[in-house]
Amino acid sequence: MLNLILFGPPGAGKGTQSEKLIATYNLKHISTGDLLRAERQAGTELGNQANEYIAKGELVPDAVVIGMVRNYMQSHAEAAGFIFDGFPRTIPQAEALDQMLNEFNTSISMVLGLEVNEDELVKRLLLRGQTSGRVDDQSEETIRNRFHEYLNKTLPIQGYYSDQNKYHGINGLGEIGEINSELCKWIDSVN
Ligand code: ADP
Repeated sequence: MLNLILFGPPGAGKGTQSEKLIATYNLKHISTGDLLRAERQAGTELGNQANEYIAKGELVPDAVVIGMVRNYMQSHAEAAGFIFDGFPRTIPQAEALDQMLNEFNTSISMVLGLEVNEDELVKRLLLRGQTSGRVDDQSEETIRNRFHEYLNKTLPIQGYYSDQNKYHGINGLGEIGEINSELCKWIDSVN
């Protein structure tokens, strides 16, 4: 199986690049942000509870997202591989993911990080907020809080995977097509 993590701060372009990669490599896309928004749209209890964290720009509790990812993987057991987008976001999530993949007799193939500076991210997210309708893209304060959560809780994951020689950073500024080529180059080097 080819199991990729697309890593990076909010607004780095993970969703855009995931869409291209799932088509090229025939992978299943797991975006915990999308799964949480779908729960909210369906009006489930989980969705309503998660929305309280999302609206403040805070991370949703680990147990909630880990359970969602487990369900998704179990219902797509036939997949050729997965792209994890927005997950894992904490060290406990990364450890849980390793354990889940182990149960599938597989592991993370590589972690590709999209590197973009904070000012550019805030600009992109405020622009996206004009059309996305996302509660967490509306104010600069919420966006900066998401970035703060990223630095405190998510960035340590980079070290977790660097220690396993699985992390590769890529410049996330530039044309979508060029960034995609750069990602494919790394994927093809192990695939
Ligand atoms: P972005 O990367 O642009 O912030 P996402 O759609 O990935 O957008 O996530 C939106 C929000 O959903 C996050 O700010 C957080 O509140 C919640 N969320 C998504 N994935 C996770 C996760 N793995 N752990 C905790 N919270 C999450």
